[in-house]
Amino acid sequence: MSSRTLCRLFQYQWPLSRLYARQSTSVFSRGLATTTEKKPKIVDLSRELYHRALAHPFHPPIVITPWDTHQPKKAGNTVLRSASYYISFSDHAGTHVDAPKHFDPSPGALSIDQVPLENYYTSGIALDLSHIPLKAAATVQDMKDALAKSGEDIRTGDTVLIYFAFNKRVHFDDPAWQHDFPGLSLEAVHWLADKGILSFGVEAVSPAPEGELNFQAHNACAERGITHIEGLDNLDQVVGKGRFRFIGFPLKIRGGSGGPMRAVAIFDE
Ligand SMILES: [Zn+2]
Repeated sequence: MSSRTLCRLFQYQWPLSRLYARQSTSVFSRGLATTTEKKPKIVDLSRELYHRALAHPFHPPIVITPWDTHQPKKAGNTVLRSASYYISFSDHAGTHVDAPKHFDPSPGALSIDQVPLENYYTSGIALDLSHIPLKAAATVQDMKDALAKSGEDIRTGDTVLIYFAFNKRVHFDDPAWQHDFPGLSLEAVHWLADKGILSFGVEAVSPAPEGELNFQAHNACAERGITHIEGLDNLDQVVGKGRFRFIGFPLKIRGGSGGPMRAVAIFDE
């Protein structure tokens, strides 16, 4: 093999080797080691999307099936083996935010693609309501106590995450997960709105306990011009840690009533 051929091979192989995480020299495994920039701590607040993952009973479950399974495809003399999946889900699947259109039937209510992205890039705090029993509603006094315990305040434009420890008490795959969650009382929703928040977030499929209370909470969000994020996870990792940057950009679904998102909390930006 000529040195020229070797050189060409090297040129083609070197960048390829950097694409794979299994290579120790991969850009993914090396992370930000070569930069002097401060590395933020990112907490992933999102649930996994997977086949048959439970959703609110009003919405269809997630369906994920293989589409390409590394079966060989040929073009000329080149063979490609790729993997991909077919996915079907509600616009309220997994970790997602409700668009005003979801709970507000008035013609001007915004769909998810119309809500400004600034609403999903906010300052945030988390409140610990992990002691609230399953199926029960947190009162305004519960919220005040949790806020005092956090040592924080609630500011205009905040996202307030409510930690009920629900995912620790009822597993995602247990059918009770669709029904037995605690949530906010109607008065607690108004209390948050009075503080000028943009959104609040919970782990469950609904912001308030199942049934009439949940309907009241949704109607209150419409009335007060706020919204809520459902299906969050890992809130135990942000509660008691002070103020953080909340980011959760929803998918840009035309006319969508909600948007699945990758929600994160970022500390030390
Ligand atoms: Zn929803």
